[in-house]
Amino acid sequence: MKYPSLTINKSKLSHNIKIIQDLCTSNGVSFCAVTKVFCANSEVTQIFYDAGIRDFADTRIENLKKINYPSTTKWLLRAPMLCETEDVVKHSDISLNSELSTISALSQKAQKTKKTHKVILMIDMGDLREGIVPKDALNTCGEILKMPNIELYGIGANYNCFGGVIPTQESLNEVVEIAETIEKNFGINLKVISPGNSGSIHFLTSKTMPKRVNNLRIGEVILLGRETSYQQHIEGMFEDVFCFDAQIIELKTKPSMPTGEIGLNAFGEKPTYVDKGDMIRAIIACGRQDVSIDKIIPLDKNIELIGQSSDHTIVDVTNSTTKYKVGDILSFKVSYGSILSLSTSEYVKKVLV
Ligand SMILES: *Cc1c(COP(=O)(O)O)cnc(C)c1O
Repeated sequence: MKYPSLTINKSKLSHNIKIIQDLCTSNGVSFCAVTKVFCANSEVTQIFYDAGIRDFADTRIENLKKINYPSTTKWLLRAPMLCETEDVVKHSDISLNSELSTISALSQKAQKTKKTHKVILMIDMGDLREGIVPKDALNTCGEILKMPNIELYGIGANYNCFGGVIPTQESLNEVVEIAETIEKNFGINLKVISPGNSGSIHFLTSKTMPKRVNNLRIGEVILLGRETSYQQHIEGMFEDVFCFDAQIIELKTKPSMPTGEIGLNAFGEKPTYVDKGDMIRAIIACGRQDVSIDKIIPLDKNIELIGQSSDHTIVDVTNSTTKYKVGDILSFKVSYGSILSLSTSEYVKKVLV
């Protein structure tokens, strides 16, 4: 085995996918599987594909390029940059948008390649990340409908992200109303109403999803087994699909207080210390460029993460009942933020078990 490693349990992941598939199906909602947290790692997307997932979504076009299974639909979740519109038309079927100038650029690129690109217009329902304000919906749709090789495929909204706003039934109903106003005004049918992510799972478990909502974009709950509005565990789902392991490279009894005058640490911060006398300190071979210690939880409850530089993490193992030695592995529970950074770090091995 090579370390540090992010381990992904295949059967637990397949099981979690199945639970969300059943939950969505029984509520008449489709979903696209969001792959951004694990950088669309191809061994992991294969598990999704094998489980029957055909709609894949990511915020980065680089990640969507890696997903090449037959009969799939690829969604770009982050509004395209003007510099990437050619790639967006080439490597995605649907993109989420909020700027007419960008959609117009997509239209031009789509005409060149004789493709039709599908656009989901994002409405900002108060989370204050992407989206047009609701009162601009009709005008914006009017413009989109004029653009060649662009299909106005639906509307969407995002919650639980920048503002942490929790979606309510009232807010989802408003999205549906906006959709129906657009449909009536232009005499069209919007195929997709997609107002949410893992923060909208509670509408499925309580069977309170407004009727016309027919899509969600789902990442986190599949990976971590918890919805993100109230952090509730979803019955039957595994919370430990992922696990992080790092190896001890030094283990010594040292004081808890540094010796000498204290200046700035490697990151320009002035550290403070509590004198706890001598302690047994382990150094594990991972650092800030792999993961932050605030975002991982040791499985050994008697050890404490006390600090980190770029490539070293210092652990107080004084109170552990395990007699650690150099070469031993410390294991950690991960969160959304740590899966993200561990997946991004090329130093961390991704291991499927
Ligand atoms: C990341 C993202 C999602 C998925 O969110 P999860 O909380 O992981 O389910 C959905 N929509 C957009 C626009 C996103 O950026």
